[in-house]
Amino acid sequence: MYNWRSRLLGQLKIRTRLTLGFGVVVSLMFLSIALNLIIRDYERDAEAQARDAQARATLAERLRAQIKDARYKESLMIVQYMSGLGFNILTDETALQASIDDALATVRTLQAQTPADDTDSDDDQATDAEFLATLEQGVLDYRAQADQLATYILTERGTETTGLGGDLISAIENLAPAYEVDALVYAAASYLHFVQPQEKTQFLVEEFGQIETSIRQAGFAPEDETRYLATLNLARNRLFTLNANDFLLYTEYFTLTADTDSLSLLINSLAESAHDERETAEDSLVEAERLSELSLALAGALILMTALLLSMIISQSITNPVTALATAARRIAGGDYEQQLDTARQDELGQLANDFNEMVSAVQRREIELRIATAQAEEAARIKSQFLANVSHELRTPLNAVIGFSDMLLMGMSGPLNDQQEHKVTRLRQNGMRLLALINDILDLTRIEAKRIEIVHRPFEPRALIDRWIGQVETEAAEKDLAFDVNIDPVLPDCLLGDEKRIEQIGTNLLSNAFKFTEYGGVTLSVQADFVTNTWAVAVTDTGIGIPPHALDLIFEEFRQIDGSSTRAYQGTGLGLAITRNLVRIMEGEITVESKPGAGSTFMVTLPLRLPAQEKVEV
Ligand code: ADP
Repeated sequence: MYNWRSRLLGQLKIRTRLTLGFGVVVSLMFLSIALNLIIRDYERDAEAQARDAQARATLAERLRAQIKDARYKESLMIVQYMSGLGFNILTDETALQASIDDALATVRTLQAQTPADDTDSDDDQATDAEFLATLEQGVLDYRAQADQLATYILTERGTETTGLGGDLISAIENLAPAYEVDALVYAAASYLHFVQPQEKTQFLVEEFGQIETSIRQAGFAPEDETRYLATLNLARNRLFTLNANDFLLYTEYFTLTADTDSLSLLINSLAESAHDERETAEDSLVEAERLSELSLALAGALILMTALLLSMIISQSITNPVTALATAARRIAGGDYEQQLDTARQDELGQLANDFNEMVSAVQRREIELRIATAQAEEAARIKSQFLANVSHELRTPLNAVIGFSDMLLMGMSGPLNDQQEHKVTRLRQNGMRLLALINDILDLTRIEAKRIEIVHRPFEPRALIDRWIGQVETEAAEKDLAFDVNIDPVLPDCLLGDEKRIEQIGTNLLSNAFKFTEYGGVTLSVQADFVTNTWAVAVTDTGIGIPPHALDLIFEEFRQIDGSSTRAYQGTGLGLAITRNLVRIMEGEITVESKPGAGSTFMVTLPLRLPAQEKVEV
């Protein structure tokens, strides 16, 4: 029944076992919670990283948009500047200066702009589109002008150029009516503007020198020549001023472009790394979530399984010995005292098994003692009954002689007796009869105890029996001046089957008690038959002293009398009801009593109703 696990666990107290089991499960729970918290931390880190990377990526995107915007603006500025130059140079110095200032200011503003101050909204996009259109238009306009100028120079002057100055002279000569010399000078200046700034100064000096020489050698009217030279000077001065600013502007522009280029590179790499970082962070977040879920599920399963396993092992370690104990107890109840339990365990159940074994040994000892005592008691009872039977028999013989001789004396067989003698002999006879009755009672009782009494079922007439009962008590009723009524059930059969002698003895006992314990009123005898329950009953009711409730059971015991004192008012031995009850039981009937102290009692004997037709002899 016990296995090794049970034995091993048996070394621990049940309480310790339960506490340990519970402790293990709780520790596992705490462990899993801690593990989950750690994973959650990791998860939170990954989440923060992802958020960070996302923010960086957004920033990079915004910066990229701003750089794009800046690039548009740079280009716009250049175009504006160049086209503004082309036109403004033709008008006046103030406008030219304003244009230059404007361009410089735009450049500086762009430079000062922080990349993060606006987002790439719809408005910005609209501005972008507008700006692109302007830019395109600006470039187109400028190209048109440049083309116009180039076309003029090439078509009007042919390809054998001798420098711009020479070309201009020819142009002035040939196209004097159509073109103002001023306009040509400025157009040329505009054209010159496209030359690389580094070489420009030298180039301008040479070109303007040639133009001046050409004007002087052209043979213009002196006032015209003076005017032309003045215009040329003005143009030259303006162009030089312009060139100086131009150079500055280029420097600024290239710095800005370089800045935005490197910024753009930086932002691109930032955006890329932010993107990579975000992807990594998102991956690790997913991983962390998966890990968290997995760890939760695993921990739950582990805890559940451990708890189940532990409870199984612990409960088995308790139920196995309990089952063994129950089996042993059942066997003992069945009379098999050879039961010993395994006491190897150190726990409460081991202690219980020990106590159980001791108890079994004790019960075994008691059982043996009891058997011996019972045998002894039975033997003693047998000897007692034998003795009583012998003594009673031995007593009856001399007693019969005493009664017989008293009878003979009373019958005058030894001569007539005087009154005094007759009285004394009568007393002698009466006492002899009482003694005989007592001896008969004791004999009956011994027979009953020794189970040697025989009940013989024979047909008898109950009415004749009732008449005999009446005869027995009539004298006493008259003497004590008590009423005596008899009720006989009309359906009472004329003939019944039973042990008439014993039934008579029962009725006589009840009637004699009724008259003995009644001083006033009367006694009623009633005999009833019941075909439903198949019984018949003899009831004796009196109006005597009654029986207190506590004594109702006691009176059926041997030698029991309510008034147990030696100076009691009523004669008797206390055997009558004991014999009566035993006889009734042997005849498969029952006796009941109802009584009220001072009011009277009713004793009723119920017997099975047997009719002669069903005759059978029972022993
Ligand atoms: P006894 O020989 O003393 O009458 P019983 O066994 O017949 O012995 O009765 C036992 C006791 O029961 C009596 O002593 C008496 O106290 C009580 N008893 C029996 N019958 C009656 C009765 N009809 N009325 C009152 N007491 C009764």
